[in-house]
Amino acid sequence: MSLYLDNSATTPVTRPVLDAMLPYFSSLYGNPSSSYKYGRIAKAAIRQARKQFAKAINAEPEQIFFTSGATESNNLVRRFFGKNTIYASIYEHPSMRTEHIVSGGDDFTAQITSCAHVSNTLLSWQYVNSETGMIFPIKYISDLAHKNISYFHSDMTAAFGKVPIDVEHLDVDFASFSGHKFHAPKGIGVLYIKEPKKFHSDIIGGGQEFGLRSGTENVPAIVGIGKAAELYNYSEEKEKACKIIRDKLITQLCAKMPCDFKILENKNFNVPSILNIAIQGVEGESVALILDSKEIFVSTGSACHSKSLEASPTVKSFNLPPEYEHGVIRISFGDDLTYSDIAYFVDELARICGILSSIRGE
Ligand code: PMP
Repeated sequence: MSLYLDNSATTPVTRPVLDAMLPYFSSLYGNPSSSYKYGRIAKAAIRQARKQFAKAINAEPEQIFFTSGATESNNLVRRFFGKNTIYASIYEHPSMRTEHIVSGGDDFTAQITSCAHVSNTLLSWQYVNSETGMIFPIKYISDLAHKNISYFHSDMTAAFGKVPIDVEHLDVDFASFSGHKFHAPKGIGVLYIKEPKKFHSDIIGGGQEFGLRSGTENVPAIVGIGKAAELYNYSEEKEKACKIIRDKLITQLCAKMPCDFKILENKNFNVPSILNIAIQGVEGESVALILDSKEIFVSTGSACHSKSLEASPTVKSFNLPPEYEHGVIRISFGDDLTYSDIAYFVDELARICGILSSIRGE
């Protein structure tokens, strides 16, 4: 039995998304820049996807720009600002990190207010942390940012489908998204820009995406992200189902784990589809490798950090005792995880941790 518990790394393209995309690979293959019928059909498909995505986050279609993913969306934003004028939280994905780091914690109001009062500055703070599922108070941070800094960007890659997103209410100037995190294909993303006319891109070419991102559009993938945005946006039912699964996982872990573990979370503000635990006295990498041999797939941090054995900045921010810091594994799932999946996973995890900690104790 194979058990995929790494939805935060990526998700599969589902049948309805694939079905929406398929015609644009073969029968409807026109270039959207061509003025004849096939071109117009492709262009209309992009227009429709732009509308679908805009509706999902309460934006206007003209504020939606298709990119190759959140890495590119983040980099596009960076290029609108000078290197020394970008401030970013310690939790950001590597594509949004800067030298000017604003750490989390209770004093972030003071930290944001102390950022330089230089014009054309940017603060970037993700909405949901992809490693732990912590939800950040984006409206509050964007208000603070606008009082002290010119622009506010939020990386919403881990947020789409997990929390309601209303970019107008949140008052963000930019927001990044990645399709493969919510059942669209890999290699397609979105950058939301509140006032697009103010920004110019240095990507030279045919002027696609309103001149901001030249290059022939990836029509099937754009159709896919539009459909996925329509089908897999946040819903209370999905959230409730994931919460029940997460509670069940925690109860079973408490009952069966042979070693102590700590949950890395923001207790009252966490998405329920991620459970990140730091297990005492074992190496997360070893646990994940043995689980892999059993066809159970989890990550030890975010996939982006998996080449490094060092704890990620997010994990470090929890100031864990050393015997827990290297035992971090992330379990991320959808609302379709069954009770028998949970029991199978926890039994295997408990068995592996029992063996590893007994070897260590010898
Ligand atoms: N930001 C965050 C928060 C992410 O989790 C990721 C993907 N792990 C990215 C950006 C990069 O997204 P993409 O894979 O679309 O480049």
